[in-house]
Amino acid sequence: LDLSRIEAGKLVLDIKPVDFAPVLQQAIQFVQASIDRHGITLTNHCPSSLPIVADATRMRQILVNLLSNAVKYNREGGSITIDCEPAAAGLVRIRVTDTGVGITAENMAAVFTPFERLGAEKTAVEGTGIGLALSRQLAGLMGMQLDLTSRPGAGTTFWLEAPLAGDLDPPAPPSPATSAATTAVITILYVEDNAANLRVMEALFRRRPNLRLLSATNGELALDIARQQQPDAILLDIHLPEMDGYAVLARLKSDAATHRIPVLALSADALVADRERGLRAGFDDYLGKPVVFADVLSALRKALLARGVGPR
Ligand code: ATP
Ligand code: MG
Repeated sequence: LDLSRIEAGKLVLDIKPVDFAPVLQQAIQFVQASIDRHGITLTNHCPSSLPIVADATRMRQILVNLLSNAVKYNREGGSITIDCEPAAAGLVRIRVTDTGVGITAENMAAVFTPFERLGAEKTAVEGTGIGLALSRQLAGLMGMQLDLTSRPGAGTTFWLEAPLAGDLDPPAPPSPATSAATTAVITILYVEDNAANLRVMEALFRRRPNLRLLSATNGELALDIARQQQPDAILLDIHLPEMDGYAVLARLKSDAATHRIPVLALSADALVADRERGLRAGFDDYLGKPVVFADVLSALRKALLARGVGPR
């Protein structure tokens, strides 16, 4: 049901800063009985508080899938280790490692194919082959990457990279002495037709009081907003309905009211050739999807500096 909802673009997520620790605890509780039944030892090395940006329910769903696999495809008396390591700036890598049968290199991609059980259907281990397909889709909707490494015969590590939320407490109001310096707000227009991607970006921007995010879901709307609001920079998705990112860029560049605004492309087509084409067309930068927030921030900073808009 969730998979078909995702395909229809109808799954509604509630993405916001949440503490990862209790979400993980709930997922562990969910599989605790089967862990005990198989004599498996679980060790959790993640911190007792870890603010990330996620939909808590969907995050728990992914963790339950990974943990139940780590039990089902483990050996009797085996172990499961969970750890949280800093990844690229602004990201945490959450890892679930088991001591099970492992997955061969040629089977690695297929574990994410719906209803593919890679021979497990011939064993007593129950399942429908949908857990990982769904987990990867959910991760994508939250702007997270889900992947694995494995040593056949020794075990498997599934990892998930999640954006950190910084401090969970609301930001303190600026004190009068510093407010003059900090009220300079940078306005960014994000042009994106996918509602889930928009929500992820909104959640990430909410933690940055000096950044204001405007959004447009199609090219025409984007051109109107750019003309009227004069954003400091534009993040432009390439795959848009009706007018694509390249067409929007051409219109922005041919209009005296908008031609000076730096425009950064965001696209799932992130091959070197795609990037070169983007830079040739006049984008200030070209970023791959799923979006890595730290990369967006540094690209924005670079583009704004190049145009003489203050580094803030
Ligand atoms: P369910 O829909 O109930 O989750 P499932 O566990 O068979 O069923 P997935 O979780 O999608 O489905 O996993 C797909 C397949 O990948 C499994 O059938 C199994 O063969 C393999 N697999 C998944 N996790 C592991 C793991 N930790 N170690 C070894 N093989 C695994
Ligand atoms: Mg499973």
